[in-house]
Amino acid sequence: MDPGLVAPRNRSAAARAVGSVTLRPLPKTVAPLRDELLSGWLARLAASNYCEISELLAHVGLDSRHADTLNFELNAEAAGRIAAAARVSPALVQSLIFPALPQNEALLTAQVPFQRCPRCSRLGLALKHWRRAWAFDCQKCGERLLPILGRSEVEVQPEKLLRRARSGAGLLEQAATSSGSVDLRRAMRAARFAMGLKKVRGDPAFALQGPRPDVRLFCLAAIAVARKRPLVKAVMFSAGIDGFARVALLAAFEKEPRLLVAVDRIVERTRQRTSPLAAESHN
Ligand SMILES: [Zn+2]
Repeated sequence: MDPGLVAPRNRSAAARAVGSVTLRPLPKTVAPLRDELLSGWLARLAASNYCEISELLAHVGLDSRHADTLNFELNAEAAGRIAAAARVSPALVQSLIFPALPQNEALLTAQVPFQRCPRCSRLGLALKHWRRAWAFDCQKCGERLLPILGRSEVEVQPEKLLRRARSGAGLLEQAATSSGSVDLRRAMRAARFAMGLKKVRGDPAFALQGPRPDVRLFCLAAIAVARKRPLVKAVMFSAGIDGFARVALLAAFEKEPRLLVAVDRIVERTRQRTSPLAAESHN
């Protein structure tokens, strides 16, 4: 293990009063890393003090059932208690949570972990950017982030799909963090279209941070493809299209009537060409 990651420091352990509670500092403290998320740092802090994170939270008087929500909302008293126990400043503790995010960013930032870096997570790290729907590669070490659920680590994804998905992830980040909403709407529409083809229902923002890596990759790839060639993507994906996917396609383009008509025509033509039933009826 990198000795810089866990750097326990022994200091005097005088109890300190924080609000109405008197807290005894933990025997060991750990320096947070850049971009580290509060829950990840608390887990490392607990491990270095040979306890569970639930025990650590109980020590500072916080309900461990809400450990994940602390990453998004931490009041001054809770930050003060954690800081006193860990012997760091309350401002440092506050810096580990997500600040109040603009709506678009909040929608695309996962409340619970859905992916992690295989290398950094072995070191006990959990970084903030892993929670973003557009995060694709670990910014700390460069490894591709992998879903927490599922068996993706043993599945080999086609190189072309990965390349497109990585490019779509970059476009999604630009769209989500820029002030305009046109690009984001376009990206979401492409993701919705991809979901239709995968026969997945629901909100594209959730599919992009959901537990199904195949759906997520497909949605990200669609964002990249749609950016360059909105009609070509329909043709590319349309072999094997079924009724539900066609409805999803129509819904995705409902605000652009001319594009909708053109795309629908291409899809219908492709469907007739590829369907054995349609081929028979033309004979
Ligand atoms: Zn990493």
